[in-house]
Amino acid sequence: MFPFLEQNKDLLKYSSFHTPAIARYFFELREHSDIPKLHDIWKWSKEEGLPVVFLGSGTNMVFAFNVFEGVIIRNMLKWIEWYDGKVRAGAGELISPLSLQVSKVRENSLFGKWIWLPGTIGGAVAGNAGCFGFETKDAILEATIFDTITGETRAVWVDELDFSYRHSILKDTPHWCILDATFKTNLVSDDTTDPRTFRSGKQPGGFTCGSFFRNPVGDSAGRLIDQVGLKGYRIGGVKISELHANFFVNDENGSYEDILTLRDIAKQKVRDTFSIELQEEARILENR
Ligand SMILES: Cc1cc2nc3c(=O)[nH]c(=O)nc-3n(C[C@H](O)[C@H](O)[C@H](O)COP(=O)(O)OP(=O)(O)OC[C@H]3O[C@@H](n4cnc5c(N)ncnc54)[C@H](O)[C@@H]3O)c2cc1C
Repeated sequence: MFPFLEQNKDLLKYSSFHTPAIARYFFELREHSDIPKLHDIWKWSKEEGLPVVFLGSGTNMVFAFNVFEGVIIRNMLKWIEWYDGKVRAGAGELISPLSLQVSKVRENSLFGKWIWLPGTIGGAVAGNAGCFGFETKDAILEATIFDTITGETRAVWVDELDFSYRHSILKDTPHWCILDATFKTNLVSDDTTDPRTFRSGKQPGGFTCGSFFRNPVGDSAGRLIDQVGLKGYRIGGVKISELHANFFVNDENGSYEDILTLRDIAKQKVRDTFSIELQEEARILENR
């Protein structure tokens, strides 16, 4: 055990679902000089048989445990640097203010579409986040990763990141911590949809993780869940939004069990009615 690891950390405010959860061990990466500690944590965790998980702002996570028997490393590396028409940002920077900054500098910038996109740069790269047809893969040039097994830092180019719909290579490399990402800033859009008006009219606020399920090819998970009559359906403190059926909202101090039960019901009903197997977009983090 290391003195810099916090123990029994309350995670309530570290996921946008705000369900009660505790991490047995927790580390917040804030300084560059602390990066080598990740290598030490990884080695120690493997010796102890403990999983290590990286966290951004927890807007795409369900903490599906009371106590996580492992280490959660929250990446809060924050800095922004402009050079040669590109912008490079620490993985802990929030994507939304960065997008605002880029769109102030570049007229009609595609980054304007991301101004209301929650989460960190690290989370956006890991999940190829995006909206209005503009995904992380369209703007990213490279990411810097720290390989916690070897203790080495290196650049990973966009091709190697293996992006597809809400997917990147990070899903298969749990020992890689994203440290920063570099984006081109010259992408423009003539679409005048105001992302704020669009979101506020079609998506609920409150404690949610955004879209809970991935959209099946050629369809929308929200439409399917709506069609099986689950809009407004509640389990305990969590309900399926009346506004958007792919949004689960924790509006009455719900638990992760409420979320998972609601998930199972939605999957079952959609399977029975349409023979379609919904897949989670949010990461369900469980004890193994
Ligand atoms: C109201 C609402 C609306 C949303 N709308 C959208 C939308 O329109 N489009 C969209 O794509 N998403 C949307 N989301 C989901 C969410 O915003 C994105 O998935 C976001 O990119 C997650 O970022 P995060 O920092 O919160 O990641 P987290 O939830 O903390 O983590 C997500 C995944 O990334 C990994 N990860 C995070 N940081 C690192 C790192 N530094 N190194 C390695 N792995 C890392 C985690 O291990 C985890 O697997 C929405 C969420 C909410 C709450």
